[in-house]
Amino acid sequence: MKCYLCKLQGKDTDAVASCIVCGMGVCIDHVVREEVDLWEGGYPFPSKKLKNKIPRMLCIPCHEAYKEGKK
Ligand SMILES: [Zn+2]
Ligand SMILES: [Zn+2]
Repeated sequence: MKCYLCKLQGKDTDAVASCIVCGMGVCIDHVVREEVDLWEGGYPFPSKKLKNKIPRMLCIPCHEAYKEGKK
């Protein structure tokens, strides 16, 4: 798989990961490894925060959207 964002810039770079949100291939320069807090669900009780974080691979556009969503 090739990096989609590089492809848009006319480059041909091998992807190292794929975005978990949109699935596009991204190279090491375009991947964002986001450490996401893990919350244990528990409806109807409030969720409790787990101590481990889950790393997720996102592309830059999805990472931007994710940050926007957190505001
Ligand atoms: Zn790239
Ligand atoms: Zn994405």
